[in-house]
Amino acid sequence: MKRALLNIDYTVDFVADNGALTCGKPGQDIEGSIVQVTEDFIDKGDYVVFAVDIHQENDNYHPETKLFPPHNIEGTKGRDLYGRLKELYENYKTQEQVYWMNKTRYSAFAGTDLELKLRERQITEVHLVGVCTDICILHTAVDAFNKGFKVVIYKDAVASFNQQGHEWALGHFQNSIGAEIK
Ligand code: ZN
Repeated sequence: MKRALLNIDYTVDFVADNGALTCGKPGQDIEGSIVQVTEDFIDKGDYVVFAVDIHQENDNYHPETKLFPPHNIEGTKGRDLYGRLKELYENYKTQEQVYWMNKTRYSAFAGTDLELKLRERQITEVHLVGVCTDICILHTAVDAFNKGFKVVIYKDAVASFNQQGHEWALGHFQNSIGAEIK
């Protein structure tokens, strides 16, 4: 079974203390795990996707505008990957197996070519790390499930600013979409 890693939204805005929409400490605490899982996929030659939120300033049409403060604005430092994940990405970004993909919605499948990229490579299993467990990870996992991919979630490499939401989502992954929780 061919697998891919979907590395979701681990950016300064979502993780750093001064990030615009930060998970704070729970997000910072997964840095080691997220780096380790990503290194493992790179070492084994598996496909690694960095699916990263992108927004425009004053976008009155975007559905998130009314829900959240501005975040991950194109061209800002807030969109940089956080901590050691940024170094890892910089070291490997030219490899064919590493794909940077902008996304504008919670799900990495919404309005992107992610599904085409996975199908071209006969990938049937998607592994998810990043933030937030109950928002972008959740929506991506549900879309993956509906499209027939097997889903694997790394419980020590996902986090949220909402602990209750984080725990609920982990239960939902296991009980409702048959995900493997590692
Ligand atoms: Zn967003």
